[in-house]
Amino acid sequence: MNAEIIAVGTELLLGQIVNTNARFLARELANLAIGVYRQTVVGDNPERLTHALQEAFSRADLVILTGGLGPTKDDLTKETVAAYFDLPLEEHAPSMRRIEDFFTRMNRPMRENNRKQALMPKGCTVLQNDHGTAPGVWMEQNGKIAVILPGPPFEMEPMYRNRVYPLLREKCPEQFYSRTLNVIGVGESELESRLMPLIEAQSDPTIAPYAKEGEVQIRITTRAASEQEAMERIDPIAEQVKEAAPGCIYGEGDITLAQAVANLLMEQNKTVATAESCTGGMIGAALTDIPGISQVYRQGYITYSNEAKESLLGVNHETLASHGAVSRETAEEMARGAQRNANADYAIAVTGIAGPDGGTPQKPVGLIYAALACPDGSVEVEEMRLVGDRDKNRRVTVKRALDLLRRALTK
Ligand code: ATP
Ligand code: MG
Repeated sequence: MNAEIIAVGTELLLGQIVNTNARFLARELANLAIGVYRQTVVGDNPERLTHALQEAFSRADLVILTGGLGPTKDDLTKETVAAYFDLPLEEHAPSMRRIEDFFTRMNRPMRENNRKQALMPKGCTVLQNDHGTAPGVWMEQNGKIAVILPGPPFEMEPMYRNRVYPLLREKCPEQFYSRTLNVIGVGESELESRLMPLIEAQSDPTIAPYAKEGEVQIRITTRAASEQEAMERIDPIAEQVKEAAPGCIYGEGDITLAQAVANLLMEQNKTVATAESCTGGMIGAALTDIPGISQVYRQGYITYSNEAKESLLGVNHETLASHGAVSRETAEEMARGAQRNANADYAIAVTGIAGPDGGTPQKPVGLIYAALACPDGSVEVEEMRLVGDRDKNRRVTVKRALDLLRRALTK
């Protein structure tokens, strides 16, 4: 089966709102292995909508429309699609009762134009709206299906999930299943070359790398009738991917690196402190985004000046004088100082030149050190040479620094 999406609304054409409905539906249909080859946006105009419908149905079996189900005069999607299918509109009694109830509960008078929302194309399947007054519509004729959903996403999304998805699921016995492995610490091209033999030997499940900032996701996907059947095929491939990037997979799906690190700290009951120069608290912010982190996060120091590095972290004056604030030695002393002063098991420290100014030939923009002080008294320091702009350098530094800790916790 293949489908098209038509979003109806002049506001969309004028750029006043973003077409998030199309994104939502496209992703949902992709999960069901329904091909979507075109999306259309059309204004609140019956002639142009009719034209868009004709075109869409000349290519697709299923057309999902959103918007224009409201009570006002410019809302004419239902009327236009019913006319296209040559179906008269009839009052749908249960919907009328729901709308009347809605107005009674809200203690608002019901206007004549609200009745329009209970008029449904003859013989259609009415999709109940649990979050508003306008019911949706599922119409099927000669193998062509039109589905009309309300425009507001908080009405459209639950209606899709609860009413449309089960009907589509019956028509598509198979759907896509996938596992996404989150990889950090190997570049995309390096990872791709390591995985190339696997990718080339493999057509189902498919293996696709996606570069994200400072990390890579590997998505392994197959089409199957059940999750169990899919995982039987996907799991062995996931194991092979893990072997190709040992120690570099911090989690799966939507989990963030900071969350993965927090989980490890909590499981092992270990505490951490942070000492930040060029990231100005971003590592602390990433950690404190996570609920429950107070169990393990002791303290964060933002030590931008040399004086702060000395007074708050006990970095030696001579170290700063002879090696500079951006140096392996300073990073190491910052980490030790934070670990000691915060009485933490681990401490992460970062110092560097994020840019755009401040670089020299010896210490260029993007030179950043991350240090990790460990419970056994050792300190590990990583030198980075980043090439992004200031914002990106700082965000990537946060990930690399958190990854130092993750690796220590998974050793
Ligand atoms: P209403 O009963 O609110 O009039 P409707 O079904 O008639 O709903 P529209 O009038 O087209 O829908 O749009 C109502 C609101 O829904 C818009 O102002 C916008 O906030 C949101 N909306 C509509 N279409 C989209 C879309 N494609 N993507 C995201 N939001 C949308
Ligand atoms: Mg409307």
